[in-house]
Amino acid sequence: MAKAITLLESTRTDHRAQADELLTALLPHTGRALRLGISGVPGVGKSTFIEALGLYLIREQGLKVAVLAIDPSSTVSGGSILGDKTRMEQLSNEQDAYIRPSPSGGTLGGVAEKTREAMLVCEAAGYDVVIVETVGVGQSEIAVHGMTDMFCVLQLPNAGDDLQAIKKGVMELADLVVINKADIDPHAAIRAQAQITSSLRLLAMHGNPDHDWKAGLVWRPKVITLSALKGEGVDEFWAVVSEFRSMQTGNGRLAARRERQALAWMWERIDFGLKQAFRQHPEVRALLPQLQQDVAAGRIAPSTAARSLLAAQTGPAQAAAN
Ligand code: GDP
Repeated sequence: MAKAITLLESTRTDHRAQADELLTALLPHTGRALRLGISGVPGVGKSTFIEALGLYLIREQGLKVAVLAIDPSSTVSGGSILGDKTRMEQLSNEQDAYIRPSPSGGTLGGVAEKTREAMLVCEAAGYDVVIVETVGVGQSEIAVHGMTDMFCVLQLPNAGDDLQAIKKGVMELADLVVINKADIDPHAAIRAQAQITSSLRLLAMHGNPDHDWKAGLVWRPKVITLSALKGEGVDEFWAVVSEFRSMQTGNGRLAARRERQALAWMWERIDFGLKQAFRQHPEVRALLPQLQQDVAAGRIAPSTAARSLLAAQTGPAQAAAN
């Protein structure tokens, strides 16, 4: 698995051809796992929770668990918020666990692409649950939401946090909100649960296609409390996940979600490939420095500059259509 994933992560052109062959061979063996996204701000308890959940799934449910990560910091600095080696020590010693840190370097799109492909390798290798972890900031959550069957957001029990998350638009994505560290102040955790539940009810009225319950029997996002440190509530978490899975399988939403994700993935890579080819085009490269200066200085309108550049690559007729 490690070799396969390393091959998929390679940027060498000859490796890419082999990687595509590998993916095509693996694809018929993928799709059976549950893909679970886990997000939350640093310190909320993600690795503690994933370790407790992983151990529970392996020991109590007899499942094989893979943990992948998308670390937005790794795309910028090559550093890492998530990738600390001492994390999930117990889980990493389990035979039925596979843990892979975030691919590093490149754009978020590139990192997400590699993680999606690694997920397929894990599925083909027979892992039943693939957990994709990310830090609760910005675009990386959207990326993880876009590749998982169920997206869970971990929250701390203090009021106000929930409002922040709602402002960021993350709550709309959540299928399940987990208030962690409930052991510290159980009353605060229950208050937070009530608050977030009512906020979610409001949000659900506008358009997440996975939650539109007016259309029939579909999932209403839930909020549960939990203590990852004490391992309390992990079984309830799994019960909710199982309920989600069977409901969204029965009503066809899970299949529809995966179809949307696969097509969005394809178009994302097409956009990326086209843009890369565009930037490498000799005419574009010749024109770009001057036009960038002109746009920055306000001498040429951005749309005019864009049209000139597109015309340089594709010919005037196509550019007009843009
Ligand atoms: P991450 O940054 O989201 O991965 O958070 P960690 O899992 O590293 O946890 C951050 C800190 O919170 C650690 O010191 C954990 O021991 C602690 N922690 C995690 N879950 C709980 C919990 O349920 N209760 C309490 N009291 N502490 C917790």
